[in-house]
Amino acid sequence: MGNGVSLPEAEKLTEEEERAVLDYECSIEAIANFIASDRCQKIVLMTGAGVSVSAGIPDFRTPGTGLYDNLQKYNLPKPEAIFDIHFFRQDPRPFYDLARDLLPANYTPTAAHLFVRLLEKKGLLHRCYTQNIDTLERRAGINPELLVEAHGSFGSAHCTREECKKAFSQAYFSEQLLASGKRDEATGEMSYCVLCDVEGCGGFVKPDITFFGEPLPSRFFELRERDMESADLCIVIGTSLQVAPFCHLLHMTKPSTPRLLINLERVGAVDRMSNGNGFLFDRPNNYRDVELLSTCKHLHTHTHIHIRTYTYNN
Ligand code: ZN
Repeated sequence: MGNGVSLPEAEKLTEEEERAVLDYECSIEAIANFIASDRCQKIVLMTGAGVSVSAGIPDFRTPGTGLYDNLQKYNLPKPEAIFDIHFFRQDPRPFYDLARDLLPANYTPTAAHLFVRLLEKKGLLHRCYTQNIDTLERRAGINPELLVEAHGSFGSAHCTREECKKAFSQAYFSEQLLASGKRDEATGEMSYCVLCDVEGCGGFVKPDITFFGEPLPSRFFELRERDMESADLCIVIGTSLQVAPFCHLLHMTKPSTPRLLINLERVGAVDRMSNGNGFLFDRPNNYRDVELLSTCKHLHTHTHIHIRTYTYNN
């Protein structure tokens, strides 16, 4: 996943311009007031595994409980191989087995997804960039046009044979996967597989999740610059901001755009990687960045936006 952008040096605002952002009051109340004001029309969100944890979806990298630490049974050369396109072409069984647990139908959107949906209903959602492949944004009812599933998703699938590449729906993939269990006579173990139905093809069908060795969806590159430059507010929720190029979205916001981080721990602070465009928390020159180190569950009480009355069917 290369494709980095060349980041400009952080642009310096005048004191007057800085004051105009949040009046030097970098607090959650100031962000809430900003959202309620006419100045905030376009909100861009960046979300990661943290927004889906309370739905019960395992995250990938947490030591001990994360998905990568629990793949021993597959005897993989390394944990990441389960999402490696070259490995998948050789042996797709570990991925298919895991995919049965990850199918989006098994999960329900969380308060964080409903918060994004609520911003859409209020006409404030410009775009939601998510690293998650679980499609819970769609299940929360968010218009796919307002989404960028930066690492792909289970929302569609394709035959992996280059000569074929037939497209399949999420429903087809799920049904075939669940119906495809085959027991090995010798070992008694079940294995699963989804094959292309084009006559004479028989290629493996893979959901359009971005595997290692595959490019990110072109939509990500087409939209990111314009979206980030036009954002009035950027909200980052539940991501470690460690995976490029996704993390660089934050660095592409205008210097006058306030930014809110909602996460269990501080991430994304200004460093060499961000060329001065990272979060300015605790820096004496911070005029625009706010952090809420908390779970996403109580988002609405912090932001004065009430989502209690919404269910995910709305
Ligand atoms: Zn095919």
